[in-house]
Amino acid sequence: MSLTEAVIGRYVWHNGHFAEKTSAKADLCTHSLHYASSVFDGIRCHNGKGFRLKEHLERLFYSASIMGLRLEFEQSKIADVIGELIEMNDCLEGSAYIRPLVWCSSANLVIKRSSQEKAQIAIFTKKLPNLKFEEGGIDLVLSSWNRAANLPHQCKAAGNYLSPILAKREAERFGGKEALLMDFEGNVAECGSANIFFVHESGTLVTSKPNYCLNGITRQTIIALAKSLNIPVEEKGICLLDMGGFQEAFLTGTSVAVLPVKSLYCPKDGLKLEFKQSAVANLLFNAYFQLISN
Ligand code: PMP
Repeated sequence: MSLTEAVIGRYVWHNGHFAEKTSAKADLCTHSLHYASSVFDGIRCHNGKGFRLKEHLERLFYSASIMGLRLEFEQSKIADVIGELIEMNDCLEGSAYIRPLVWCSSANLVIKRSSQEKAQIAIFTKKLPNLKFEEGGIDLVLSSWNRAANLPHQCKAAGNYLSPILAKREAERFGGKEALLMDFEGNVAECGSANIFFVHESGTLVTSKPNYCLNGITRQTIIALAKSLNIPVEEKGICLLDMGGFQEAFLTGTSVAVLPVKSLYCPKDGLKLEFKQSAVANLLFNAYFQLISN
């Protein structure tokens, strides 16, 4: 079962109330549906506990503030609600994904919104398969779509996902599972909904600076874990020419955890880079798993 196949929990929390998912509704003219003004977050729940819940909720509130969405609930209230929803949707054992979504209800088909308007909020849960290390790894495709230069990259706004959606469709046309997006300076940015790490032949873990990518919470966790395991970490601009020196590659993110990359295909010149067995990724996956299990 993948994240997309997983089933959404029966109950949602919508603007202060629990409801059956099928009865919670939004207006078809809502601003966010037309202009991608919603923000969201994604939290991994392991055995009933939201991993780094506080950091995720801080990011949600930051994203909302960037988009001018005024939440009428405190962060602590949202944390309590998530705890209740985990129980109600039977997510106390194993893995689940929690998705808070905040949007603007303005429905008069214009970009302008009232600054007084209260934001709408809904929270969903999804059961996930139990975490395991995916030995084989996935095939990546280098996208012709870039991470946009001038967007708030630390804000999880729906509008930021236009190039990842296009890139994922493109990657699938080339037989890949995920797309790798470059930034406008020609350096590696990230995948559609995950950060990327490489292991240099010297043993150093290399990842892009979070200038034009999300500074993912899993990314930060993995950097801290690598340092605690005495694995040197370098955050720097990575261009395609650097790839030859990399032995391993892996993605990190709430939904993928630590996912090895088998190959990177570059459709423009027909080149395919193969990465080796994921020993470092495996080590970091195990450390991550131990952390979320505590
Ligand atoms: N980049 C993007 C664009 C994402 O949407 C995500 C998923 N939130 C990530 C990276 C990974 O971030 P995190 O580890 O916080 O899930």
